[in-house]
Amino acid sequence: MKSQIIVVGLAGNPNSGKTSIFNALTGARQKVANWSGVTVEKREGRLKYKGYTFKIVDLPGTYSLSSYSIEEIVARDFIISENPDVIINVVDAGNLDRNLYLTTQLIDMRTRVVMALNMYDEAEVKGIRINTDTLGALLGMDVVGTIAVKSEGIDKLLDAVIDVSSKQSQVSRHIHINYGNDIESEIQKVQKTIRSVELIQEKYSTRWLALRLIEGDRDAELKLKRYRNFEDILKQAALSRLIIEKRYNDDIETIFTDMRYGFIAGAIKETVKKTAPKRRDFTEKIDKIVTNQFFAFPILIFFLWMLFELTFALGQYPMDLIDKGVILLSDALEATLPDSVLKDLIINGIINGLGGVIVFLPNILILFMGISFMEDTGYMARAAFIMDKIMHKMGLHGKSFISLVMGFGCNVPAIMATRSLENTRDRILTILVNPFMSCSARLPVYILFAGTFFSSFAGVVITSLYAVGIILAFISAKLFNAVFFKGQSMPFVMELPPYRLPTLKTTLLHMWDRGSLYLKKVAGIILVFSIIIWVLSSYPRSSEIEKKYTDQSNEITKTFIINKNKIIKAHGPESKELTMLNEENEALFEKVNIEKRSEEMKYTLIGRFGSAVYPLIKPLGFNWQMGISLTTGFVAKEIVVSTMSVLYHSAEEESDNGKQKSLREVLRNEEYGITPLIAYTFLLFVLMYVPCIGTVAVIGREAGWRWAVFSIAYQMILAWVVCFIFYNAGLLLGF
Ligand code: GDP
Ligand code: MG
Repeated sequence: MKSQIIVVGLAGNPNSGKTSIFNALTGARQKVANWSGVTVEKREGRLKYKGYTFKIVDLPGTYSLSSYSIEEIVARDFIISENPDVIINVVDAGNLDRNLYLTTQLIDMRTRVVMALNMYDEAEVKGIRINTDTLGALLGMDVVGTIAVKSEGIDKLLDAVIDVSSKQSQVSRHIHINYGNDIESEIQKVQKTIRSVELIQEKYSTRWLALRLIEGDRDAELKLKRYRNFEDILKQAALSRLIIEKRYNDDIETIFTDMRYGFIAGAIKETVKKTAPKRRDFTEKIDKIVTNQFFAFPILIFFLWMLFELTFALGQYPMDLIDKGVILLSDALEATLPDSVLKDLIINGIINGLGGVIVFLPNILILFMGISFMEDTGYMARAAFIMDKIMHKMGLHGKSFISLVMGFGCNVPAIMATRSLENTRDRILTILVNPFMSCSARLPVYILFAGTFFSSFAGVVITSLYAVGIILAFISAKLFNAVFFKGQSMPFVMELPPYRLPTLKTTLLHMWDRGSLYLKKVAGIILVFSIIIWVLSSYPRSSEIEKKYTDQSNEITKTFIINKNKIIKAHGPESKELTMLNEENEALFEKVNIEKRSEEMKYTLIGRFGSAVYPLIKPLGFNWQMGISLTTGFVAKEIVVSTMSVLYHSAEEESDNGKQKSLREVLRNEEYGITPLIAYTFLLFVLMYVPCIGTVAVIGREAGWRWAVFSIAYQMILAWVVCFIFYNAGLLLGF
C-alpha cells in the first residue's frame, strides 16, 4: 500500500499557474520531453508524500477539451488513454467563469478531479470572495485554494488527491451538466447507439462520447472508426445535431457553449461574492435587475400574473367560439338525426363529454406556450434561482419551481420535467407534491362551479383554490421531508443560460411537446370514457318506471284539462288565472320529468355505483351525481365536468322547447340540493383527491409504483379529512 503510485495530470487554461503548481509540487525532480509524435512539451516529475509516490504530468494549457488544436487533443488523449488516477484542474480564481469552461468538460468526461483554485491571493486583492466548500459541493469535486508561487495550499491539494484516488473523499461525486430537456433526450439517443458496442463502452464515458459526437468532433469520430456499428452511431449523432440546431436556431457550438456558460454562471452566482467583469454583458445587465434582491419577487409575480392573465383573458375568445360551436352542432344533430340510440350516444355521450373538455384546450395551449416562452428566453432559470431559498425552506429545490409551475398546465409533463433535478430525493418530493398544483384539467370544474354558485366572486374562489393547493404542496413537502427524507439534499448548480429571444417556431414546438401529451389524453381516454359513461348511465332501462311516469303525466294532463275548462268558464280565456294554471302545470311537468329521469338514472349501472359510494361522500354533503363524477374523474379530472354534463343533461332532456339547457342552469336547480358550501367543498375535494390516471402512470414510471400507490392513498385521505372538517365547520357557521 505504502509504495502505491498515484498518477496525476495537471490540466488548466494557459497562465492559470499550472507550471508553477507543477514546480511547487515536484521541485527540481522533473524531466522535459515531447509528447509522442508531436512537438508539444511534456513535463513529468515525481514526488513522495505521506508514503505515496506521485507521478505528476503537466498537460498543455488549453481553454477547452474539444479537438481544435494539437494541445487539446494531447491533453484529452492523456486523460482518456493513460488512465490518470486524478486530474488536478488548475483554475485562475480571478477569472473563474472563463476557467470553469474546461472544468465543465472534465465533468462531462467523468474524470476524477481535484480543483486547485490558484492565484487565490490575486483574487482576494480584486475583492473576489469564493466559497470553496459550496463550489466543491456543487461541482462534486474537492476544491482547494492555492497560491502556487508561495507553495501555499500544496499539501492540502495532495491530501485531496489522496482522498479522491483512494475513494475517501466526502465531496467527490459524478455530476451531470444539465443541457436542457431537448439536448438531454438527444444525448440519450446517441448514448443508446453507443451502448450497443461494448468495446466502446469500456473505453469511453458514453455520455461524453455522445456529447462530442453531437458537437461534431472529428477526432472522436476518427477514433470510433475501428468499432463496428460506427456508421449507425455517427448517423444518429448527425441527426441529433440537426434536431438541436433546428430547435435552437443556432449552430451546435454556440448552443453547447451557451449551456456550459449557463452552468458556470449558476455555479458562480451561488459561490462568488463579487466577480470580475464578465463578457456576457447583456445577460449580466438583465440579471442585475431580474435577480435583484428588491425587484426579483415583484418581477416574478408580475410575470406569473401575466402568464395566467393571458391564459384566461386571451383564451376566452376561442373558448366561447368552441362552446358555441359545440352547442350549434348538438342542436343541429338534434334537429336532423332520427330518434335512435345512436343519436342519443352521439349527442349526449360523445359531443357533450368531449365538448365539455375541448373548450378548455385554448387555455391550456396558451399556458403551455407562455411557460415554453419563459423557459426558452432563459427567464424560468432565473425564477428557479429566485425561488431557491423559499423552496429550500420547504425541503424542495429551486428547480422544483419550474416543474410546479408547469403543473398548473398538466401534471404529466410537469412530472417529466423533474428529470432536470439531479438527486432522487428532490425529484420524488417534487413529484409527490406536484398533483397539488391545480392542473388545467381541474379548471373546467372550478370554472363551472365557481361560475354557477359564486357568480361575482368566481375569480376569488378559483384563486383561493390555487392558493390552497400551493399551501398543501408546501405542507406536504415539509411532512414528507420529515418522514421519508431526513438526510440533507445534495446541492447542485442551477444553470443560468444567456437570455435569448426564442423563435416563434421553437416556442410553438415546445408548446406542442407538452400540449400533445395533453391532447392525447383528451382524444383517447376522454372519448372512450365519455362513451362508457353514457352506456353506464343509459342502461339498463326499466319499462316499469317508464309506465309509472307515463301514467302520472297522463293524470296531470287530465286534471289540467278539467281545471282549464273550469277557469275558462268562470274567468274567460284571457284571464290571469288561466296563465297561472298554465305555469303551474308546466312546473308540475318539469318536476315529474326530473323525478322520472332521476329514478331511471338510479336504475342504471352508474346510478347503482353512485349509490354504493354515496355513503362514503354523504358526510361531505355531496349528492350521488357528484359521487359518480368524482369516480370517473379519476381517469382525468376534466371528466368530472363531462360526466356531469352527461348525467344532468340526460335529466333535463325534454325541457325547454327541445333546446339543451346549460349545465349551469341545471346545477342551480334546487332539486339537486347543491348549496354554495357544498359546491366549495366539492371543489376542494376535486383539488386534492387522487391524481388522474395519466399522472399516476408517470409517477409510477418516474418514481416507482410504491410512490404512485402512496400518492393515491395520501391524497384520498387528505381530501376526505379536509373536506369533512371544512363542510361541517361551514354548517356550524350557518352557511
Ligand atoms: P501556466 O501557463 O498555467 O503554466 O502558468 P504559469 O505557472 O507559467 O504561471 C503564469 C504566471 O502566473 C506566472 O507569472 C506565475 O508567476 C504567476 N502565478 C502562478 N501562480 C500564482 C499565484 O498563485 N499567485 C500569483 N500572484 N501569481 C501566480
Ligand atoms: Mg506552463
